Amino acid sequence: MKLRKTAAVAIAVLALTATACGGKEGSAGDDQSAQPGQSNAPKLPTYTVAKDVSLDSPTFKKAQSRGKIIIGSKADQPYLGFEDQATKKRSGFDIEIAKMIAADLGFSENQIEFKTVDSGVRETAISKGQVDYYVGTYTINDKRKQLVGFAGPYYKAGADLLVRKDESAITGKESVKGKKVCSIVGSTPLQEIKKPEYGAQVVELAKYSDCVQQLLNKQVDAVTTDDSILKGYAAQNPGKLKVVGKPFTEEPYGVGMNKDDKVLREAINKSLETHIKDGTYKKIYEATLGLSGSAYVEPPAINRY
Ligand code: GLU
Repeated sequence: MKLRKTAAVAIAVLALTATACGGKEGSAGDDQSAQPGQSNAPKLPTYTVAKDVSLDSPTFKKAQSRGKIIIGSKADQPYLGFEDQATKKRSGFDIEIAKMIAADLGFSENQIEFKTVDSGVRETAISKGQVDYYVGTYTINDKRKQLVGFAGPYYKAGADLLVRKDESAITGKESVKGKKVCSIVGSTPLQEIKKPEYGAQVVELAKYSDCVQQLLNKQVDAVTTDDSILKGYAAQNPGKLKVVGKPFTEEPYGVGMNKDDKVLREAINKSLETHIKDGTYKKIYEATLGLSGSAYVEPPAINRY
C-alpha cells in the first residue's frame, strides 16, 4: 500500500513537471492552469481614468451624455469574455481590453454596461447603436468592414479543433471528413469548415457553450473556432477536452464600432497602441488568456485603413 502510494505521488509529480515544460501548442487541457484570482496568478493592471476627454465622435458624445458606455462582449468564453452567472462578474482578456479603452475615454469601471452579444448578431447590434463598441473575439475582414468599423488588430488567433480527450481519429483539419463538427452562426470558422474540401457534417449553433456541451455529451465529434477560445474550454475541462492540430485560418481581432465613426476608431487605435507600448497589454494577457495555455506573443501592428 505504502509503495503504491509513493508510486502514485511520483507519477503525479512527473505529470506536473511534464506539464510545466510542455509546449505552448495544444497543451491546454493537459495542464492544471493557474486560475484567475488564485494567489500565484499574475495580477491584472489598473487603468487610469482619463479626465476631461473631448472627442468629436457621435458615439462618444452619446455615451458621455448618458453617463455610461455600453460595450458589447461575449459571456461564455472563459479567459476571454466570460460572465459568472452567480456573481454576474465579467472577466477575461477582451473584458479587460474593453475596460482599458473605456478608461482612456474617461469612463470608470462603474460607468460601463456590458451587453452580451453573440457572434451572429454583432453587426446588427453595432450598426443599430445598441452598443458603443464591441470587444469579443471579433475577426477583422473585408466583408465585415462593409458594415462596421474596426480598431486594431490587438491579437491574432487561428481556427483550430477541440475534441474529447479520448478522441484519436481527429488529429487536425485533414481528419474531419464525415465527422460532426460544431461551430457558431455568424463566425468565420463556421464559413471555413463548411467548405466542401473538409467534408465535415457541420452543426451550427448560436452559442459556443452549446457546442461545447454537445461535444461533452457526444452529440458532435469536434468544435471548431479560434484556438484562443478552444484553449479556454480545454483548460476549464481538464481530462475531458483537448485542442488538436495546427491553426488553419488567420483571425485578427478588432474592436468593432460604428462604421462612420472614424474619430472613435482613431481614439481606440491610440489606446491600444499606447498600452501595448507601456506594458499594460502584456499584463492583461498574462492575467487572462495566458492562464489557458497560450504563450505571450507580440500583438500585430495597428492597421489604420
Ligand atoms: N473570430 C471569429 C469570428 O469573429 C470566431 C470567434 C467568434 O465567433 O467570435 O467570427
